[in-house]
Amino acid sequence: MSVATCTICKRRKAFFFRPYSREKLCKRCFIESVEEKVRATIARYQMLEFDDRIAVAVSGGKDSVSLLHILAKMEQNYPKASLVAITVDEGIRRYRDEALKIATENCKKLDIEHHTASFKELYGYTLDEIIKHLKRGKDKLTPCAYCGVLRRKALNVVARDVKADKLATAHTLDDEAQTILLNILHGAPLRIARVKPLTDKAHPKLVQRIKPFCEIPEKETTLYAYAQKITFQDILCPYASEALRNDIRLFLQGMEEKHAGITFTIFKSIAKIRPAIAKIAKKEELNECSECGEPTTGRICKACQMLQQLGTR
Ligand code: SF4
Ligand code: ZN
Ligand code: ZN
Repeated sequence: MSVATCTICKRRKAFFFRPYSREKLCKRCFIESVEEKVRATIARYQMLEFDDRIAVAVSGGKDSVSLLHILAKMEQNYPKASLVAITVDEGIRRYRDEALKIATENCKKLDIEHHTASFKELYGYTLDEIIKHLKRGKDKLTPCAYCGVLRRKALNVVARDVKADKLATAHTLDDEAQTILLNILHGAPLRIARVKPLTDKAHPKLVQRIKPFCEIPEKETTLYAYAQKITFQDILCPYASEALRNDIRLFLQGMEEKHAGITFTIFKSIAKIRPAIAKIAKKEELNECSECGEPTTGRICKACQMLQQLGTR
């Protein structure tokens, strides 16, 4: 029986089959193809300027650590660009502490400036403490809803503090397709206008976000981390509870197995109609939160509202 050879170099042994392109790839060609795809994605959506200061949100998980490694490699060709890493410590015992260590190790290895910020310092509570409060009240929001809003704000604050022009997050193609379907299933399709690879310059205090992995399937970011022997955290957060997102993830995985490339089709279909959705979605003016000064559509930002509710419980 002949061992399959790589479709690209036609020399080395294949170790990965890419169902949607029917390519068989050796380790080296696979690594290069992922890096090339990231480069192409950044160029297609004009995510970066040659002298941008880029802050990468690094949680310590496989996707964010892989993104850090790829951007560090790319940055070598752009001497005027600079790269920093940001890790938000939500305060989740026996989970984020380990991830923080891994993020720090990776930054040291790559010689990248690393900034951290904790919920405790910024908001006065760890996520563990917030969850304890929630259990006492009758709150219907999940831990992830709190965590997401507070982390988003923390990342923006730190990215701005370190004078970053762009904030890069490691959302993969799977994450993007899930978010699109989630918005539809939540009855909020107009929100799709905001889910995009490069966010608008909506407010001077809001650092533009980029998603260089938005066209890369999660399977490939994971495999990239293994192939490059990158250290990452592989345990699940104890609060991971977004039930609907999980169902969508399983649904999409099943569909992808049967119909290779369908996740990308969802992403591309939405990209085609996004400008039309943006036209009917009301362009919301951003003001500064009367409590903390962060950009928000209301008078008080969501993070401050959540914290105020916790304080009054
Ligand atoms: Fe936060 Fe939820 Fe992610 Fe845990 S799973 S880190 S609670 S968003
Ligand atoms: Zn090859
Ligand atoms: Zn606020």
